Amino acid sequence: MPQLSQLSTLVKKAAREAGFDLAGIAPVHDAPELNYFHEWIAAGHAGEMKYMEARDEAGRLKRASLRHAVPWARSVIVCALNYNTAQPYSTDVNDSQRGWISRYAWGEDYHDAVMAKLRAVEQQLQQECTDKEVELQTRCYVDTGPLVERVYAKYAGVGWIGKNTCILNQKLGSWLFLGVLLTSLELEPDLPAPDRCGTCTRCIDACPTDALIAPYQLDANRCIAYLTIEKRGTIPEDIREGIGLQVFGCDICQDVCPWNRKAPATSAQEFQPRDGLLNPALDWLAEMTAEEFREKFRGSAVRRTKHGGLRRNAAIAIGNSSDARFLPSLHRLSEDEDPVVAESARWAKEKLERT
Ligand code: SF4
Ligand code: SF4
Repeated sequence: MPQLSQLSTLVKKAAREAGFDLAGIAPVHDAPELNYFHEWIAAGHAGEMKYMEARDEAGRLKRASLRHAVPWARSVIVCALNYNTAQPYSTDVNDSQRGWISRYAWGEDYHDAVMAKLRAVEQQLQQECTDKEVELQTRCYVDTGPLVERVYAKYAGVGWIGKNTCILNQKLGSWLFLGVLLTSLELEPDLPAPDRCGTCTRCIDACPTDALIAPYQLDANRCIAYLTIEKRGTIPEDIREGIGLQVFGCDICQDVCPWNRKAPATSAQEFQPRDGLLNPALDWLAEMTAEEFREKFRGSAVRRTKHGGLRRNAAIAIGNSSDARFLPSLHRLSEDEDPVVAESARWAKEKLERT
C-alpha cells in the first residue's frame, strides 16, 4: 500500500495538472465553525434557502456533520480555481445608467468547469489506487455537497475565512471557486490557514445593507447577493435603496478587501466577461425579452435568478440611479405582465420622480 503522504502529494499534483490554482486536504471532523452553522440556521439567517436546512433522518443538519451525511468519508480534498479577470472592481466604476453583475458570473457557469477538473483529479487518484490495490470511494461536489465548503477550505489550508465570510488566500485573494472531492482515504491533512484579517473591518464598513452583522457573520436576508439571486418574489422595500446598482450578486465586500488589491488575474477564456455583461446597461436588462435572456445567459450562472428576477433587480437599480432618463422605460415596465417587475418599476418610478 502506498504511503498516504505519497497519495496526498499525488492528489495535489493532479489538481495542479487539472488546472486548479490551489489544493489542500482536510480531515473529516466536526470543526468548531460548524457549531455556528446551527445557530445561523436557527436564527433564520439563511432566508429562503431551504436547501441549507436539509436534515437527515435523525434531524441533524446535513451540512453541519459530514461524518453522518457521508459516513465513509475520511478526507476532503478542497480545490480552488481563480476566476479573477483583469477588469475593474465595482467600487471603481460610477455610471448611473449601468448596473453591476457579480464578477463570478461574467463568463461561463463555473459549475461545469470546476466539476470537469475535479473529475480529472478523481480519475488520477482512482487509477493510482487501482494500480496499488487500495480500496477507494470518492464523490465530487461543486456547491451541492452536504458540507460547508469554506470550513473545509480553511482546514485544507486553501485560505482563511474572512470577516466577509469568503475564503481568502494570501497570494490569490478571494476570487476563488471551490470544488471538493470526498475520499474514503485518511490522507495526510494540511495545516489550517491562519486568519490574516487582523484589525481590518473594511468589508463590514463597506457593506451597504449591513448584512455583515458581526465579523464572520452574515445575515443572508440583508445580503444583496441573496436578495438578487436567491430571493423570489418582491424584495422588501426597506432594503431596496441599499441594493444600489447591483443587478446580480454583489462584490463590494470583496472589492474593498486589501487582500484583493493585487489579486492576480486568470487568462482562462471561460471566465472572461461575455459581451455587455461588464457594467451592463440597466434599461437593456430591465426590458430584455424572455428569448433574449435565454440566448444571452445560456450556460451562464445568471440564469439562476431567472428572467423575471433579473428584470426586477434592474428595475430596482434604475430606481436607485437618480437618472430621470429612465422614466419612459419605467412607465412601460409599471404595466409589465410580471407583477413583481411591475411593482418594482412603480417603486422605482416614484423614487425617481421624488429626486
Ligand atoms: S455581498 Fe454585498 S451585501 Fe452581501 S455582505 Fe458583501 S457587501 Fe454586503
Ligand atoms: S476586508 Fe479586511 S476584514 Fe474584511 S475580509 Fe478583507 S481583510 Fe478581512
